This record gives sequence, structure tokens and C-alpha cells, in this order.
Amino acid sequence: MDIFSIPILDNYLIYAPLHHLVTLVNRQAAQDIRSGLREEIPPPDAVRPIVQKLRAPGDAPPIARSGALTDPAFLGLITTRGCNLACRYCDFPAPKNTSPAMELGMARRALDGYFRRIQESGSHRVEVHFFGGEPFFAESVVHFAVEYSALRASPLGMKPTFEVATNGLFGADRCRWIADRFDTVVLSLDGPEDIQERQRPALSGGGTFKAIVQNAKILSEGTVDLAIRVCVSDATVDRMEEIAAWIAGEFRPSSVCFAPLTETSVSRPAGLCPPPAWEFARNFHRASGILERHGIKSILSTADLSRCRVSFCPVGKDAFIVSPDGSIDACYLFPEDWQAAGLNLRLGKVMPDGLEIDAGAAQSVRDLAAREKTLCADCLCRLHCAGGCHVRHDCSAPAGRYDDLCVQTRLITAGMLLRQLGQGELAEAWLQNRASMRTVALQKTDRLLDEDFRL
Ligand code: SF4
Ligand code: SF4
Repeated sequence: MDIFSIPILDNYLIYAPLHHLVTLVNRQAAQDIRSGLREEIPPPDAVRPIVQKLRAPGDAPPIARSGALTDPAFLGLITTRGCNLACRYCDFPAPKNTSPAMELGMARRALDGYFRRIQESGSHRVEVHFFGGEPFFAESVVHFAVEYSALRASPLGMKPTFEVATNGLFGADRCRWIADRFDTVVLSLDGPEDIQERQRPALSGGGTFKAIVQNAKILSEGTVDLAIRVCVSDATVDRMEEIAAWIAGEFRPSSVCFAPLTETSVSRPAGLCPPPAWEFARNFHRASGILERHGIKSILSTADLSRCRVSFCPVGKDAFIVSPDGSIDACYLFPEDWQAAGLNLRLGKVMPDGLEIDAGAAQSVRDLAAREKTLCADCLCRLHCAGGCHVRHDCSAPAGRYDDLCVQTRLITAGMLLRQLGQGELAEAWLQNRASMRTVALQKTDRLLDEDFRL
């Protein structure tokens, strides 16, 4: 049973995602719940409703997709691997200036094939996502794909949705077009001027801050759903509250996604390191409080508690991500990256007459996403984080041998659950107590009914 518990100072947070239950109880109540579930003693009145709820069948655990590929999550177009920024932590191996753009004919064939599949399956959901490099470094491809999709969808009575992950460095006219035509823009902006210029300079060496801020303001004024992605380094982790306040004061995003910097071959020589997991978690919580007061959601991608899943990313959800050369993959990294991790995420290729998807390969990817991850077996985040990135995060270690990604995910998940319960102040007190944080971060099993679980 997926019933988890973690100690928060003198109390216990009980979390059962498949039963939609989260509650905070004292030690005696936690013991009574455990004994009641084990049928050792009849549960006392105070905890009986909890025990009854947990004994009832919960939702079915998420499993791998199977069967025909009739419901792709989205069509992804990598319009180019090139980029106009030279972020000091980006070691993307593609040449920034000379990477080819997707030909318009390729974009058209990919969209035609995608529409055909959607029509054949009787679905009406058309979602097109743009990735890079920087997708607008090949802006004519994005422009064409958006207008062509709208043209194709209209006679079918469909309304396509468009999403882009972008660095925001484009002209104001292009930005107004984006604000008008896109549904979601995920904009990377690391903070106030000194942070942005240090971490995300232009390829030409010049500053990017003013242009990107101007564009973020244009996007804030439109109806597009703006999500701001902030890469947090060791140099900026203590400024997360300031960054949150600055964003809330300047722009109108619906969410801010804080992403801890991942060490790369270029980040260390540039003097940038990942933030300490503990500090990141503590400051995430404080920044969340500021954003919440402005109606802005804080996100850590591995701690999205809104649903249970076997994969936190497009892999396993039948997303078709098309590279400029027409290959179709489940992940937007280079094949060399996933091959180095011993994975095959190739799904097929774009052909003149449609998307040629290898059904066997697609099922292998689905199964891969849902495979048993030993590291995560007893972790309270297992149905949300689901092990993190399939390529870059190794989950084959024994249960409970947590790394930094786990520590920050576990701490932030616990903080979010406390906030859900209206226990923001308790969360703050807990996050000041390093010993208590440490217990939660490193507890080997969170399963309340495990023999090894200590109450
Ligand atoms: S063990 Fe780590 S990777 Fe696995 S679910 Fe928990 S936090 Fe995520
Ligand atoms: S496997 Fe990793 S890099 Fe690929 S889509 Fe998922 S999270 Fe992104």
C-alpha cells in the first residue's frame, strides 16, 4: 500500500496519494493508524476515519501505456539545435550558430502526419510544442508551423494549442505575435539583471536582460499562459526570495519553475555550481510563500503533486518529438545522450506520407518509463517524481540511497504537503531545523507499514 509517513518535528505527516489523503498527526495517532491498518488493535475514534479511508480501495496505481498509439501527448518540433544565447551552464553539444534549421517541408510533413493520426483516432486534441536549442532562432519555421496548423485544424473544427520553451531573445513584433498565437510560453529568465547577465549572456557576448524583460512584459499583458523558468545556482540560491519578489513585481506569470543548476562541463569553469540541496529546498519554500501571495504557483518539476504518474516528462506518454532531420524520438536530447545511458528513445521518422512509428519501439519506451526503479521503491515522491529524468538520473541504486535530486525533491514535497494543509508556519519552523530536515531527507523508507519504518 502506498501509505507514506515522514516526521515533521514532533508530528507525522501521513500521505497516501492514491487515497487523496494528507494529514498531520502526533506520534500516538500515527502509531494507532499503523496498528489499525495492521489490524493489531481496533482504531481509536480519533483516527478511525483515517484508517477507514486508507482501508478502502484507492485509485489504481499509474501503469505504462499499452495498445495503439492513438493519444500522443503532443507533437514536438525541434526547429533548430542552434541558439542565440551562450548560457554559462549550457553544454548542449550542437553548434550554436551553424546548426541547421528544420526545412519547412519537413515541418509540413510532420504536421500532416500528426493531423492524420489524430483524425484516424477520432481525437480532437491538437498540441504542438516547440523546442530547441532556441526555437525562435529558426523563427520562420515556428511561424510556418503555427499558421499551417491553424489552417489545417480549422476545417476539422479543431483548435490547436501551442507551447514553446524559449529564452525570450527576439524582437518585440515577434513577441506580440507569440503573445497572440501561443497558449503557453515557458520563458527562461534567471533573475534580476546581474544574475541574468552573469548566467545567460548573448552568444555575441552582449547583454540580454533588457530585451528579455521587455518581452516578458509583453507576454504578461497578453492572454498567453506565461511560466518563468529560473535556473538556480549556488551563487543565486540565497536570492530565491528576492528573485520571486522581483518576478511577482515585474511580470504576471501563472507559475515560476525553479530548476537547480545541473553541473556541466562548462558550468564549473564559469564558476557556477549546483545549489546545496538543503538551501535550495528551504529557499524554495520561502520563495513559494512570496509567489503564493501574488497568486503565482511555484513549481519544481519533480514535485508536481497534482497527479500520479509513471514518468514526470514526455517519455512514456507517446509524445512525438521531431528533430530537424525528421527523426522522431520520445525525448528532446541528442541520441548520443540517451545511448550513453544505455537507452533507445527512437520512435520512428517522418516520411513523405506520414509519421512512421515503430509500435514495438514505442511500447519499449512506455515500459522503460514505467520500469521498476529500486531507488524510489519506498519514497513518498515515487508517484510524482517517478525517478526524474530517464536519461540523466540513475534510479538503480538500492531503495533509500538518495542523491541531491532526491533530497531536494523530498524536502520540497514535504513542504508542499504542509502548505496544502495550511501549515506554512510549521513548514518554516521545520525548515529551520537541520536535524529534522535531515531525518526526512534521508529516511530510508517512508512506508508507514514497513517493518523498518521507525515511529
Ligand atoms: S527516490 Fe529520488 S528519484 Fe526516486 S522518487 Fe524519490 S525523490 Fe524521486
Ligand atoms: S528523459 Fe530527461 S531529457 Fe528526456 S524528456 Fe525526459 S526529462 Fe527531458
